[in-house]
Parts: sequence; structure tokens; C-alpha cells
Amino acid sequence: MSIADNLKQYKNEVETDGVKLIAVSKTQPVESILEAYNAGQRVFGENHVQEMVDKQAQLPADIEWHLIGHLQTNKVKYIAPFVQLIHGVDSIKLLQEINKQAAKHNRVIDCLLQVYIADEDTKFGLGFDEVVELLRDETYPELKNIRIVGLMGIATNTKNEKQIAIEFHELKVFFDGIKVSFFRKDEAFKEISTGMSADYKIAIEEGSTMVRIGSSIFGKRVIKHFKSNISAN
Ligand SMILES: *Cc1c(COP(=O)(O)O)cnc(C)c1O
Repeated sequence: MSIADNLKQYKNEVETDGVKLIAVSKTQPVESILEAYNAGQRVFGENHVQEMVDKQAQLPADIEWHLIGHLQTNKVKYIAPFVQLIHGVDSIKLLQEINKQAAKHNRVIDCLLQVYIADEDTKFGLGFDEVVELLRDETYPELKNIRIVGLMGIATNTKNEKQIAIEFHELKVFFDGIKVSFFRKDEAFKEISTGMSADYKIAIEEGSTMVRIGSSIFGKRVIKHFKSNISAN
């Protein structure tokens, strides 16, 4: 099946459930992104800043770019002019920097807090207690150029579907608690970004509102990293 065929199938499937499809185009050439674009896709996810900046400059302006990978504070400035949603916010320091760079462009940048749910060692993501701590940070209310619109999580890379379901379920329960405690009157706080090619069906059953699907749409990722024209770092 072609990229266009895959795209249409996944888009149709998840949108029927009211879920937003983020086509994860990391390492894929602009031609492949254009094929998905021409098949109707407007939301793309990238995990490297330089790669996203390069592609954004070459592709249609009405694409919504989501940064789904880990973001270093010193790279926020490169994406601040255009990024639509940053999925992996995992510190108050990063949030402060996004706020600062967004202000320079007179923008409010939407962010998701990445919550650690997997049974794996990873440096990234906040524990449940750390999410609460961040939201109680005295500087958080002063950040007028960011908006936290939900939570993001990555389940354990396992074939055990029950375990994946439990992890997504725990995130949903936590989301509901945070919503009541911190965002009761905030309609924008409504997103749960969970689910990739292997587990998006489970994610949707467990309350996901946006799934991040890459290889099932574009095929296996090319090993060679996308070559950047700029030396942004
Ligand atoms: C690569 C990536 C995806 C997409 O993974 P696939 O298995 O190719 O669908 C989703 N989320 C994040 C954070 C990723 O880095």
C-alpha cells in the first residue's frame, strides 16, 4: 500500500473515534510528507529540532508541526516561530524557556506534559508527583505564553497488551485527577497523547485523544538520519 493509502486508512479509522492523527514523519524525506499532505494530512510529528525546522521551511505553510521527542532548552528558539504543539515537556525550566521564546514571537505555544508510565528505564518524563510539583511551582502562573493542554505518555515496549492497557489507563485516571484539581475551568486542557503504530488501538480504548503513528503510514524508517541544511544547535 502507498503512503497515501495508509494515511487515509489510519486517518479514517482514528477520526471515526474522534481521535486526532499525528503522522510521525521523522527521518522521512519531504516527498513522503508531501504524499501524505496531498492525501489530506495536515498534522506531522518530528522528534529532532533541526529536521523539523528544515522540513517546515520546505513544506506548505498550513502544516501543523508537533515536536514529539525530547526537547533541549537551548533549541526551543528554533521552533518557537511555528511549532503547534510540544508533546514532551518534562520540566519547569523547559516550560519557562518555551514561554520566553513564544513571547518573542507574540505567540502562545501549546504544550503537553510528558508523564512517565512505562516499566522501563528512561531519562524522560515526569513522575505523577513531579507533574503536581510543576503545576504548583510559583512561577507557573506567570507563564502567559504557554498553555498546557494535556498529558503525553509512552507505554512499555512490550507485546503484553494487558500491561500496555494498564499503563494507558493509569495515565487517564491521573489526567482526570489533574483536570479536576488544576484545570477544572480550563476547556483547553483535554488532550491525552498516547499510542503509536503498535499500540494505538489500546491507547484509543483507554482514552487517547491523539495518536502518533509513523512506521505504519510511511513504512520502516530509513536508518540514515535526515540530513540537515542548517547547523542549528
Ligand atoms: C517515533 C515515535 C512515534 C511513532 O512510532 P511508530 O512506531 O513509527 O508509529 C510516536 N511517538 C514518539 C514519541 C516517537 O518518537
